[in-house]
Amino acid sequence: MSSVTRFAPSPTGPLHLGHAFSALTAFARADAAGGVMLLRIEDLDRSRARPEWEALIAEDLAWLGLTWPRPVMRQSERSGAYDDALARLWEAGLLYPCTCSRRDIEAAAGAPQEGAPLLGPDGLIYPGTCRADAAGPVPPGGALRLNMRNAVEDLGQIRFSETGRAPLGTVSVAPETLIEGIGDVVLRRRDGAAAYHLAVVVDDAAQGITEVVRGEDLFEATAIHVVLQHLLGLATPAYHHHRLIRDEHGKRLAKRDDARALSTLRAEGWTPLDVRRAVGL
Ligand code: GLU
Ligand code: ZN
Repeated sequence: MSSVTRFAPSPTGPLHLGHAFSALTAFARADAAGGVMLLRIEDLDRSRARPEWEALIAEDLAWLGLTWPRPVMRQSERSGAYDDALARLWEAGLLYPCTCSRRDIEAAAGAPQEGAPLLGPDGLIYPGTCRADAAGPVPPGGALRLNMRNAVEDLGQIRFSETGRAPLGTVSVAPETLIEGIGDVVLRRRDGAAAYHLAVVVDDAAQGITEVVRGEDLFEATAIHVVLQHLLGLATPAYHHHRLIRDEHGKRLAKRDDARALSTLRAEGWTPLDVRRAVGL
């Protein structure tokens, strides 16, 4: 099987040096194996995504010397595939509607007697207020959560192969870690759109991704993705979580750091080689 990687930016701002490092790494890893890097536009957040940013992404990547096959996958065009996956999980009795606001969750999670509320990769671990056995058809709107305890019941250890950050090799996550350290994640958001964890799994499979190359901030979320792959009957790709590019204060670069936008650097006379050097490639 030939190598297929992807670069999956959200078109909510300009690409910066961190994105350049991620895209260059994904491209180089595919290229070295005679494969291709695909582009996927993660525009599920319709209130923040803009076509201008998507156009600039293509311009920046081309300037860096990268190529990718067309058509490009856009998550805003994929709601049918996400609904099919949600229906399958719903019918398996693994989802339930949740009407909690962020404030409700903070109040319920903070209420227990001892200590600080538990934090998972999505923030506060959901205290389970709305957890129930679902019946009937999939509700047409509103948030849906995964019942993590039921989801991992028959899976045993969750495993995936990692080549980017330690621990390298086969990473093994215990079901209890998913139940207690991650909890009932949202798979459909309150606005009815698919949540990131669901979309990423459905799309990586649909695009035939063999190796997911992305920042190490998403390492902890990978176990959630592997659980969903098992539940949906999808193959688990290999994973390569790379280091994050930080500014001179050691702070992670973010979209708002427009000073480091590739388009700004380009206008200042930077070359693609300057970008490679700046990110240590
Ligand atoms: N869209 C995500 C981001 O821009 C990437 C998600 C992923 O690579 O799985 O951070
Ligand atoms: Zn709830």
